[in-house]
Amino acid sequence: MGWVLRLVETGVDGSSRNVDVMVIECPGDLSDIADLGLTLSQGKQLVALVQQAIVTAQSRDHAARRPECRTCTTPCQVKDYRPHQIATLFGQVVLRLPRFRCAGCGGAEAGHGWPAHCRSTPELDQVRAQFSALMPYRVAAGVLELLLPIDAGSDPETLRACTLKVGEDLRDAAPAETATAAAAITLSLDSTFIRSCEDGQRHLEVRLGNVETSDGAQQVFAAVAKTDTAIEALIRRSLADVGKTVDTELTAFTDGCSGLRTILINAGVTEPPGLDWFHIAMRLRHAETTADSLPVDTPERGHAQAAIVAEVDRLRWRIWNGKAKDAKVTLERIRAVMPVFQGEQSDRKRDPSLRRLWTALREIDRYLTSQSSWLVNYAERHRAGLRVGTSITEGTANFLVNRRMNKSQQMRWSRRGADLLLQVRCAVVNGKFGAGFGRLFKAQENLGPEAAIAA
Ligand SMILES: [Zn+2]
Repeated sequence: MGWVLRLVETGVDGSSRNVDVMVIECPGDLSDIADLGLTLSQGKQLVALVQQAIVTAQSRDHAARRPECRTCTTPCQVKDYRPHQIATLFGQVVLRLPRFRCAGCGGAEAGHGWPAHCRSTPELDQVRAQFSALMPYRVAAGVLELLLPIDAGSDPETLRACTLKVGEDLRDAAPAETATAAAAITLSLDSTFIRSCEDGQRHLEVRLGNVETSDGAQQVFAAVAKTDTAIEALIRRSLADVGKTVDTELTAFTDGCSGLRTILINAGVTEPPGLDWFHIAMRLRHAETTADSLPVDTPERGHAQAAIVAEVDRLRWRIWNGKAKDAKVTLERIRAVMPVFQGEQSDRKRDPSLRRLWTALREIDRYLTSQSSWLVNYAERHRAGLRVGTSITEGTANFLVNRRMNKSQQMRWSRRGADLLLQVRCAVVNGKFGAGFGRLFKAQENLGPEAAIAA
């Protein structure tokens, strides 16, 4: 069987033009399911041909326009035509666009607002950046080439350059104007490290965090330290994006690093930040797992282990309720039952898991002591329906910095490349790209002590 695909142009003046775009051939015999409908290559050819036909008609219409001179408002005349090759989502298109000259003063007029040296449409740039945010450049280039009639940008280097450019634009974008005023906002700021590919530095510091309103509106932000991206500016914009006003009640959380507290002050967050419950819970969880691995080969050791786990749990309860500024009591009580795990011979032969447990507990004590002025009554906040810490989920954090940048994959990043890709990834999470391909992760539920530990 065969068809002719004809585009019929419908004009406002009632005129109509038509153009035959493509001949489609398909078998009428359906004994093989592979013959059902259009093939991928037919589909790609179809949209590419339709795209070129539409662009040709558009440029014809465009050339008939006579823009006014910006200086003397006299209508312009066509000076000459310039060929353009533009990569679109549906193939590379070729078109001629007129350049205009004023009949009065002789001034030149472009007749369009395209950026200088424009080679691709914004939509193609965004789709390329979105795919690059989700997978390595080489893989993204392959997927796009497979599915779309893109004959430009199938080269990973082109894709990288395009993605970093989009990242730059996203970084410099103004805050959204649509934000409704937020009554309360929780802000979290954290830092992590990724591997560097540049000489003289092994790791790059990444600052990342999020803002969330009481109504659940959420934005994430991230930047690599010592780049052109100012994390303070990103924080200010994120706050504006979710509707911060002078009346908004703002609560900030960090993991206790003084550098992060300075960033918050520079971003205009003047209320002292609280210590993030998540970071406390993570340390307690580590102590608990270590206690779980203690040898319980005798009933005596079984009881001792249960007592240790109960002590860690008690410590968690006391911190949660704002009653612990250090772990000294816990350390004393656990020290009392520890001899049970020490071997008959000597202290030096004691179980390694016991040493790990002791290290973990001492670390908790140090952490609590150094951060005691930043501890808050988490239980009270939780009962009031307020956040107790960061709500940037592990999934989101992994997506932003780990999944493609972690050690196991041996990914090494340039400072600028990682920073600008982060801007694209944040835009993906924040749903700033086209509809339906936006927000990847849902806002986390307000965490209680148990859920926070599991996270
Ligand atoms: Zn003029």
